[in-house]
Amino acid sequence: MVKIALRVKATLENIEELKPFGPEFRWCLKFTCSNCGEKSEKWNYVSLSDEVPAQHGKDTYHFSSKCKLCSRVNTVSIIKDSIKSYTIDDQDTFKPLVVFDCRGVEPIDFSARDGWTAKAIDGGKEFTDVDLTENSWAEYCDKIKQPVAIYEIEHTFDRVK
Ligand code: ZN
Repeated sequence: MVKIALRVKATLENIEELKPFGPEFRWCLKFTCSNCGEKSEKWNYVSLSDEVPAQHGKDTYHFSSKCKLCSRVNTVSIIKDSIKSYTIDDQDTFKPLVVFDCRGVEPIDFSARDGWTAKAIDGGKEFTDVDLTENSWAEYCDKIKQPVAIYEIEHTFDRVK
């Protein structure tokens, strides 16, 4: 079992906090099989709200898939209290937003997609259903009378203890 953090970097314009919203938030990932090296072509969704019971024992996972090439069943669990938001203080740094407990697979790509909430600075609006599929998002906050935006989203993965 390997713990892998997803680190995200983004530029926030008049936004103080960007947050993956609720347990139904879906992390969109591509994986590689650590057993045979097969890389998944399609995107997979991993969500706290999807619980997959283990074939043996009492564990539950948040994602499980059978490798097309070597037929091994690989699983991923989200470490619940690892989920963080990206704030104005994190700008220009890669912040770990979530840690995955990976058994047999490792994530190799991430797409931000939708399901985020973003809060404007200075007591501005809280925007729900922020869609980062295009790797950027822009709106206008009529409370602070300023444009708000999120862009230049980048990510890395790294192993944690
Ligand atoms: Zn495999």
